[in-house]
Amino acid sequence: MEKECLLQKFRAYGQEMDKYNYIDAVTGWDSTTVAPRNDRIIAYRAAMSARLAGEKFAYQMRPEHLAMLEEIAADSSLDLITRRSAEIYLKDLEECRYLTQAEYMAVVEARDIARMKWQEAKEKADWSIFLPHLEKTMADRLRIIEKRGWTGHPYDCFLQDKEPGMTMAHYDQFFGMLRDEIVPLWKKVREEGRELDDSILFAHYPEQLQRKGVFDLMEAFGFDKNAGAVGDTTHPYTTYIGPGDVRIALYYDEHNVAAALLSTAHELGHALTSSMRSEAIEATNLREGNASGISESLSRYYENNVARSEAFWEFFYPKMQALYPEVLGSFDRGAFVRALNKATAQPIRMDADELTYPLHILFRYEIEKAMCEGSLALKDIPAVWKEKCEAYLGYVPQNDAEGPLQDVHWASAGVATFPAYAIGSAYACQYEAAMGREFDVQAAYRTGDFQKINGWMRDKLMQYGSLYDPNDLLRMATGETFNPRYYVDYLKNKYTALCF
Ligand SMILES: [Zn+2]
Repeated sequence: MEKECLLQKFRAYGQEMDKYNYIDAVTGWDSTTVAPRNDRIIAYRAAMSARLAGEKFAYQMRPEHLAMLEEIAADSSLDLITRRSAEIYLKDLEECRYLTQAEYMAVVEARDIARMKWQEAKEKADWSIFLPHLEKTMADRLRIIEKRGWTGHPYDCFLQDKEPGMTMAHYDQFFGMLRDEIVPLWKKVREEGRELDDSILFAHYPEQLQRKGVFDLMEAFGFDKNAGAVGDTTHPYTTYIGPGDVRIALYYDEHNVAAALLSTAHELGHALTSSMRSEAIEATNLREGNASGISESLSRYYENNVARSEAFWEFFYPKMQALYPEVLGSFDRGAFVRALNKATAQPIRMDADELTYPLHILFRYEIEKAMCEGSLALKDIPAVWKEKCEAYLGYVPQNDAEGPLQDVHWASAGVATFPAYAIGSAYACQYEAAMGREFDVQAAYRTGDFQKINGWMRDKLMQYGSLYDPNDLLRMATGETFNPRYYVDYLKNKYTALCF
């Protein structure tokens, strides 16, 4: 095919994909924020989404489209962005390519049902309600990777789909370090560490003021308020709608000031990422992250390294005191920061502090690996979960809702999504260390110099979208491939200083 004609077709393909993704993002935002929740509305939306998904599938799977994407991805005379863009489109089709349209729709439907059943199972704290649906969706997933011709450990396939180039060997090494160094550290903190008082976080913080606090934080981080919108939801998240339009959905708890603050810091990391991509990347599908660990690292950096640091609160605490003079007016800043960082033995991943968080992920990693290789029957997950939770966290879940039913992931996003959360925190520490070789990072937090911090993040990481695989990006930004040592040392230093 003539090259110009080929590229023209590729651009048309991209526009068509943008159309589907736009509708998906807007209806997704609508359904999780303002749409009324009744069965009729939910069923109608599900039916319309299924039709759109079917149409999109048919469009993507046209043989001439697949041939075009393959030709572009392989043409070394084309620029990197164009080739990578075609490659990522193909990667998105990894599962679809081994299914007929009818099989694909059946798989999507089974996942939808699994998600609904998970909701019910969670409410009733009963694993047996969800179990047959997990068995079905897991069997579907394993069958598809077999069709793909994957001969290695199935979990390795899932992991590499989520984080290209990062193999199970990398994860084994990383989680091995957590098991050897962070599990004993947490045990020592819990048994011999200083008792920290975090009751100040659970005073009364009126919702209206918390909303103002969210905007103060946005301003402090240098996020342009006109570059998106904020809405209310039950589980905070950020979604890209279109150029210059990113939405943040948040949740407020009047008796927990840390919840909205830290989740805002996290979501702002995602939102800043969206607003800092280069124009060339923004015009392509590379605007979306292809590596969930990288995407999470950019949000976790702002949530953990920045918003849980002592230095940042030197800058931001006066604003909080002005917002809540009765509660915080005469309350000591150091005590507030210690409260914010208190580590607790409790069962819920989403509520975890920085120290125990990766341990929640560690045992999910071990369980998922065993599920995929067939050495753990899915019916036995709650029992194994209980054992590992006790061994690593020092807490015994009271029921299945405190155990494996707490997360929606197995019912929606599949297996192998959890490791990205821990690895993201680890990448973030590697960035902070690299940044520290160029300027005084703590001084930047102390003075609220986010122009400097955001500038580094944009130049080294955010501008590229998913142009590079994680290890290549890490090497370019920090001078080395993934090195978990930064993270492990960061946690050790932080919690030793805090608790001993
Ligand atoms: Zn996130």
